[in-house]
Amino acid sequence: MALNKAKKVEPLAATPLVDSTLPVSRVRPAQREGLSERLSGSDARLDLTSLPGFGPILERMLKSRKFQFYFILPTQIIFWLVVISGIFGTLEPAQNFGTAITWYIWFALMFPATLLIGRAWCLACPFGGLGDWIQRRSFWRRTQKKLGLGLKMPQVLAEYGLLMSAGVFIILSWLEEFFNIAGPGLPILTSIMVLGIIAFSLITFLVFERRTFCRYLCPLSSLIGANGSTGIIAGFRPRDREVCLNCQTKECMRGGTDGYGCPWYTYPATADTNTYCGLCSECYKACPYENIGVYVQKPLTSVIAPKKRTSMAWVIGALLGLVIFQQWNALPSYAAADNWLNSVMHFPHYPNPVDYLLTIGAVAGIFVGIAFLLSRVVSLKTKTARSFSSWFAPLMYGLIPLVGADYMARVMPKFFNHAARLPSSIIGIFGKQVSWADFHILPNNWLVRVQYLVIAIGTAVAVYTTSKIAGKDYKELTRNSKLARIISVAVVVLLGAGMIVLYYFMNGAE
Ligand code: SF4
Ligand code: SF4
Ligand code: SF4
Repeated sequence: MALNKAKKVEPLAATPLVDSTLPVSRVRPAQREGLSERLSGSDARLDLTSLPGFGPILERMLKSRKFQFYFILPTQIIFWLVVISGIFGTLEPAQNFGTAITWYIWFALMFPATLLIGRAWCLACPFGGLGDWIQRRSFWRRTQKKLGLGLKMPQVLAEYGLLMSAGVFIILSWLEEFFNIAGPGLPILTSIMVLGIIAFSLITFLVFERRTFCRYLCPLSSLIGANGSTGIIAGFRPRDREVCLNCQTKECMRGGTDGYGCPWYTYPATADTNTYCGLCSECYKACPYENIGVYVQKPLTSVIAPKKRTSMAWVIGALLGLVIFQQWNALPSYAAADNWLNSVMHFPHYPNPVDYLLTIGAVAGIFVGIAFLLSRVVSLKTKTARSFSSWFAPLMYGLIPLVGADYMARVMPKFFNHAARLPSSIIGIFGKQVSWADFHILPNNWLVRVQYLVIAIGTAVAVYTTSKIAGKDYKELTRNSKLARIISVAVVVLLGAGMIVLYYFMNGAE
């Protein structure tokens, strides 16, 4: 069970809370029963801080209170340059620095990066960074005075987890399509959109405590959290879980002299996924027993091993529905349906909110139907085995690599057709024009082939994860676990084939 040896474990005397002014999180008593078995699959083994040479350097960096500040500062500068360029720069979207870096570079590169290194973006994110600075009234110092009301997300809403974030992402994507922001349209629209997200995040940071925004509401959080679970960064975990189970003070959650309590409400000792760790290193600084390390894991561990949460399954269904919509909306059949609906409803133009939501709902609904059928037809006659979510959650987790691959393939045309515009947009700030701005990194026929390849790889990986998950999670639900596994894998293959067909008809459309 021990992940790695703790560096320096002092006797665990109960000491008073260092940060008694903080609202105390819901720290529950240690539940030992079944813990080792539950976490054995998700425990990461390689602590980066234990590596010879690199480990001590990393430790010094993590101990520094300025660690996250140094990541946030450059993105914060670029972020405000985007806003300023959008307002004051050229009106030509393809030549504007703000639109070029946002839609041709950042949005395109975020997907492959997330699939590989999980929530690393959250470490540097300007939205969360600005919120922290204002809420803590400090760029990096450990302060006790907070700005804002410090409320908790009501439990009844917190149960929905990242599903709220997926909802915000769906609304934001509709607004983006309706106003043609990422087209890109007028550069000022990009500025308005990011300023809108900043306003939403700052209000949340001032009303709620810690990173409630990131954990529940940020439009990107569900996407990064779900797709990032394929990645190799496990996050901050205990070196010796037994030390945590005996720990009376739990500074990693409540805050200590040198670090804040986990802003993401994650208790490192029982974390079974990288989805809810923003890599901020506060637990590392706060733990008085030096019992926290930074772990890497085998790719896909956070897809296969963790407890399957129903709210996350719905998130995956919603994200899948959205990306399938974004494929279909490039086809003439969609344009015909959307035009017809707009004329019937007297709605001004694409995208009609009804067909938008119906498409997302229909795609998610297909998987709801499959899970329901499995729970009725293949399951044992016990209550758990016949429960819908026992089948739905594992089915959807298995799809994560394919959903991530589809988002990546969908943003590829913008990157390969327009990434060369970024240097030209930077040169354009100084009033010069360059002739190679229209250079395409890949010709269209190769671009489409790369999209097929990405989906084929995503399908193969999803077949693997689905097969692994089905073999593990369906065992107790059915005597026909082999049949359940074959059906689930067939569903993945059909979905992957459907995506490739859509890319064929899209023919490299942006
Ligand atoms: S969850 Fe959203 S706001 Fe928070 S750090 Fe990640 S991307 Fe930024
Ligand atoms: S990580 Fe948290 S629970 Fe574990 S020993 Fe440190 S303070 Fe205690
Ligand atoms: S405090 Fe630790 S567990 Fe919580 S988000 Fe930061 S690094 Fe992750």
